[in-house]
Amino acid sequence: MAETVEIRVPNIGDFKDVSVMEILIKEGDEIAADQALLAVESDKATMEIPSPWAGRIESVALKIGDKVSEGTVVAKIARSNSPSSERKILAKVSQSTGRHEADVETEFDLAVIGAGPGGYSAAFRAADLGLKVVLIERYNVLGGVCLNVGCIPSKALLHVAAIKEEAERIAENGILFGDAAIDLQALRSFKDATIKRLTDGLGQMAKARKVEIISGTAKFGSPHHLIVATAKGETRSIGFKKCVIATGSSAVRLPMLPLDSRVVDSTGALQLQSVPNRMLVVGGGIIGLEMATIYSALGARVDIVERLPELLAGVDPEAVAIWRRKNAHRFDRIWLGGSVENAAVESDKVVVTIKGETLEKRPYDVVLQSVGRTPNVETLGVESVGLQCDAHGFLTVDKQMRTQVPNIFAIGDVVGGPMLAHKAMHEGHVAAEAAAGLKAHLDAKIVPCVAYTDPEIAWVGLSEREALSAQRNVRSVKFPWSASGRAIASGASYGMTKLIFDADNHRILGGVIVGPHAGDMIGEICLAIEMGADAVDIGRTIHPHPTLAETIGMAAELFEGVCTDLMPVAKSGKRT
Ligand code: FAD
Repeated sequence: MAETVEIRVPNIGDFKDVSVMEILIKEGDEIAADQALLAVESDKATMEIPSPWAGRIESVALKIGDKVSEGTVVAKIARSNSPSSERKILAKVSQSTGRHEADVETEFDLAVIGAGPGGYSAAFRAADLGLKVVLIERYNVLGGVCLNVGCIPSKALLHVAAIKEEAERIAENGILFGDAAIDLQALRSFKDATIKRLTDGLGQMAKARKVEIISGTAKFGSPHHLIVATAKGETRSIGFKKCVIATGSSAVRLPMLPLDSRVVDSTGALQLQSVPNRMLVVGGGIIGLEMATIYSALGARVDIVERLPELLAGVDPEAVAIWRRKNAHRFDRIWLGGSVENAAVESDKVVVTIKGETLEKRPYDVVLQSVGRTPNVETLGVESVGLQCDAHGFLTVDKQMRTQVPNIFAIGDVVGGPMLAHKAMHEGHVAAEAAAGLKAHLDAKIVPCVAYTDPEIAWVGLSEREALSAQRNVRSVKFPWSASGRAIASGASYGMTKLIFDADNHRILGGVIVGPHAGDMIGEICLAIEMGADAVDIGRTIHPHPTLAETIGMAAELFEGVCTDLMPVAKSGKRT
């Protein structure tokens, strides 16, 4: 006989007094175990509260807008089964195929581990192709590093920093705003609201595609099932035909730096707890320079120490030189070829010993370590299913993003290569399509990179330096923005568009842009490379005037010797 029991809000992690956004049941409804009862929303995440029992709803205790925490009564149910934690295993999957011996609750066509840009792109694409998909994420919020502690929050803060600095610069053009006041709380709220809007959107898109979301940490139990420690404290066993590993990466921690709240990685820096007077950035790559830009715009004096002989290693040196000229005001010291020897907390400072030409001890209010990222593989139990990592710990895959175990794919930061969101998303689509049986493989020739600093630097394809070391017959052309009407009118005449062409067939092989909106413009060069365009294709494409994008067409014209926006070339071969 059915017994009437109360359904209460289970353990929902750190969330307390979260608002009820949607009630998904009503009195008299017959519901299944695990069916969603209501949706709640905190400032960090939207969650659905499932029913532990199947049965008939006798009464609903909540209304929209009520606040709930663990233990709040949701409804009364005349239950017809035992709670899901004691629930009978639904299926003993694939005994006939002998694929695995473990008991699993449900078998999915595709299980995706990690809900970053790689993972959610794979999950959504697979669902669009008709697969039954589960997306497992250890945090209560979707979006991974990119949406929560990477691309999006950093770009929100860089946007604000750029406006502040542009407003200061505009004084030279006759508009004076006076000194800016900084409201850190409002700035944090803007950043958090930006993140929330996007992560909420992901939740809705998952729901619309019927992608099941499980909040929990997954590890392999066999090549066909995952063991998931859920956020609710349960252990679930999830069966799959195919799996995509999209567990991303974490910041590398330098062992010589103390464990202290003033020693942060990019995640800590993006929390924007305070604006330090003096900040040391360890690592002069994209992330380090973006953070330096944000904090410097907010008023911090910044030093950088970089182990390699140049900032943004591997990027066109002319582009980096322009960046350094425009950013010289931000930095007291930049150590190139330098290293942090040790550091200690002394009263309210972190005192760091830096080895450059000499040993120097310097006190800082905040130290940011941005020296690279390492793949999240360790806790997955990949060795138990026979997966291999390379010498740096990245999973190895083929062009279909398939690991050595044919039904397991891996994508994004966890497989290395440029650790960028757009690369992860692209790989996610390839893996999903291959898992669905399509003949997909990764055939992108290039992955563009952007430093969203001020000015932006964007680059793609072959660099002059790489062409030289590969002994390729290339010719590069540089269109200086000092000859672009739009750049002059926007105070960006220092910028540059450089294109690298195959000297024999005139096809474009690479490009680098420095200046405002470089990141938005690089897409044209990417498309040109992918389509095998030559200099005539690009130069004869009518670009709108006056725009910064015109400089791409003009650079291509320059290569063909038909550019009329620079001085003519004299008989000597020199530009007059
Ligand atoms: P991630 O985004 O790292 O997502 C992996 C997810 O897997 C995480 O949510 C993690 O919690 C989850 N997970 C891990 N292990 C498990 C497990 N065992 N079980 C369940 N879940 C698990 N890239 C750009 O292209 N442009 C930028 O402007 C840019 N800016 C950046 C700024 C910063 C400060 C940082 C740190 C990175 C930036 N990146 C940028 C890089 C970009 O964020 C990453 O390349 C991208 O997020 C990688 O996507 P992914 O899907 O591989 O992994």
